[in-house]
Amino acid sequence: MTLPTPQPGVLDIAPYVGGESRLDGVDRIIKLASNENPLGCSPAAKQALVASVDALNRYPDGGATALRAALGRRHGIDPARIVCGSGSDELIGLLCHAYAGPGDEVLHSAHGFLMYALYAKGAGAVPVTAPETDLTADVDNLLAAVTERTRVLFLANPNNPTGTCLTADDLRRLRASLRDDVLLAIDAAYAEYVVANDYSDGRDLVEATANTVMLRTFSKAYGLPALRLGWAYGPPAVIDVLNRVRGPFNVSAAAQAAGLAALEDQAFIDLSRDHNTYWRDWLATRLRDLGLDVPPSAGNFVLARFESSERAEAADAFLRARGLIVRRMAGYGLPESLRVTVGAGDENESLAAALAEFLGPE
Ligand SMILES: *Cc1c(COP(=O)(O)O)cnc(C)c1O
Repeated sequence: MTLPTPQPGVLDIAPYVGGESRLDGVDRIIKLASNENPLGCSPAAKQALVASVDALNRYPDGGATALRAALGRRHGIDPARIVCGSGSDELIGLLCHAYAGPGDEVLHSAHGFLMYALYAKGAGAVPVTAPETDLTADVDNLLAAVTERTRVLFLANPNNPTGTCLTADDLRRLRASLRDDVLLAIDAAYAEYVVANDYSDGRDLVEATANTVMLRTFSKAYGLPALRLGWAYGPPAVIDVLNRVRGPFNVSAAAQAAGLAALEDQAFIDLSRDHNTYWRDWLATRLRDLGLDVPPSAGNFVLARFESSERAEAADAFLRARGLIVRRMAGYGLPESLRVTVGAGDENESLAAALAEFLGPE
């Protein structure tokens, strides 16, 4: 008997394991494992979500017209060049499937976001990594890793899980030296948190070229990961492709309603950014003072690097016993590291105190 067999690549995928939110035998959990917004989300988004229940019997607007118009107004860009997705994850997957197939290569930096390799494999393509320098994507190494089979280059900027970031000049240089038929996907999931002046979320390149797409999400600063909402801004040809391959109703009415309201509440984003900047820098300083190596982070998390993977594992166990959940990084090739999301003030203080206890004199 011959049983149904999935396409090549599919069984190479290790199923994604998300951050945990429960620990057996511990009452009070502090979850700093999934880069979630400790301030929640905009109250206006909650109200809009509640109001959306009156139309549960209706299909959503498949074109997310009102949401795209609001994104266009908010960012000063053309709504016709936006596609919304069920999280930016969906859009990463659609780009892989639309532009890469068996034998093709999807390129990303060594410690880039895991979903790129996962969706590349799902499309039958081969994920290829380029070495980083100081845990930062390296433009020359990425260019050197391009082959005839390279179809898409994904660059998370800032990158998850390292937190490191390339400048607008770096991105321009990357695009200028990259073959025209290689699609550059700039994943700016943490753009709202970036305060550096030399940063670009990639929209300038989207506008200046025909082969660059920017990905954004409502899962991080907007605090709406439960609803699954992301969007892509790209050249008309790429947007046309995404509109052909996406599901006709890929974004729920609830997500559209809440996203629209969240967009109008810029005060919540400003508050989230200010909270994050203060506590991220506080956490980085505290952890460095404890002797850990912490690369500069532009996101809402820091990477804490221990002297060995055994120490990182022991620290993780120590934290878990105290109800603190952070993220192990072995899956990212960083077994000596733990990723810590910036939490509420008292959560950050608890984390730092527990690590001080773990690392302190015996
Ligand atoms: C969290 C994250 C995403 C967004 O995921 P959603 O599917 O929108 O929830 C995308 N890229 C990176 C680098 C991320 O860290």
